[in-house]
Amino acid sequence: MSMIDPFGRDISYLRVSVTDRCDFRCTYCMAEDMTFLPKKDLLSLEELERLCSVFIAKGVRKLRLTGGEPLVRKNIMHLVRQLSSHLGNGLDELTLTTNGSQLARFAGDLADCGIRRINVSLDTLDPAKFRQVTRWGELSKVLQGIDAAQAAGLKIKLNAVALKGFNDDEIAPMLRWAHGRGMDLTLIETMPMGEIDADRTDQYLPLSLLRGRLEQEFNLRDIGYKTGGPARYVEVAETGGRLGFITPMTHNFCESCNRVRLTCTGTLYMCLGQEDAADLRTPLRASEGNEMVAQAIDEAIGRKPKGHDFVIDRRTRRPAVSRHMSVTGG
Ligand code: SAM
Ligand code: SF4
Repeated sequence: MSMIDPFGRDISYLRVSVTDRCDFRCTYCMAEDMTFLPKKDLLSLEELERLCSVFIAKGVRKLRLTGGEPLVRKNIMHLVRQLSSHLGNGLDELTLTTNGSQLARFAGDLADCGIRRINVSLDTLDPAKFRQVTRWGELSKVLQGIDAAQAAGLKIKLNAVALKGFNDDEIAPMLRWAHGRGMDLTLIETMPMGEIDADRTDQYLPLSLLRGRLEQEFNLRDIGYKTGGPARYVEVAETGGRLGFITPMTHNFCESCNRVRLTCTGTLYMCLGQEDAADLRTPLRASEGNEMVAQAIDEAIGRKPKGHDFVIDRRTRRPAVSRHMSVTGG
């Protein structure tokens, strides 16, 4: 089985935001006084598992849990365990993106469930700046989490959002640190999603500029390495490690998009940068069989848009997409 969209792209990658809640309040992601969804609107873990199973039966081979912070969802390991039973049985990879705050507690269990690689978001190695950007986070906990994950045998890729005047001068030392510990590093451009307290145009830093600066210090060689995500990779001659660039603003990578995103309320977004969505919760709850859900998924894939067009309205300075990244997951 496979799901082919109107532009011939094989949709084999599902990202699931298991909660919109988080124990951090990263300045580029959320406002400090975020309002979260009422708990009653959430799908149960059993419902999420059922929906994921339908996607796997329809051709999804890679599944990423994200959020909000996936590891703060109550009994999350129950869902991970259930989903892991699909590994080697339709599903090639189960993974997650986390802020790392709870990793020290969960790393061993995640590895036991057959998770092999995870993404950890980390924008700075300076404890004070870390507190500033996450508002509520503690760097030492995340570093302990990374230690625990590596000790459990999990491969880690670090994701850092490039923020003008905040961490641009830190990328070179972070790169050396990450590569020295056997971790890839991927840089991400800030996307205008959801209202935050700050003005995004002040934070935005095009990665082409950052790459130019890094090239004064490092030899970067483009390589064809792919992880199934949108990053383009270079190899850094001086460290032997890989550096990825996710450039939704300066370079559109939509032509090879193989993903769709499910929220914790059962809403399916066919594109991170568009508002169009499909409600899967109603057909899921309407019947014990999966035919209606499968049909709703087919209809949704049939209208997956060609691509996104992230722009900030220069007059109103409103974001291009009103929902926060924590709703659809990064
Ligand atoms: N809480 C987890 C974490 O931080 O890894 C998972 C969810 S978070 C929304 C996923 C990724 O999206 C993180 O790497 C985060 O830095 C990134 N992100 C959040 N808001 C963003 C934005 N407006 N533009 C670009 N990346 C963003
Ligand atoms: Fe939470 Fe991740 Fe958003 Fe930071 S980026 S506030 S850790 S969901």
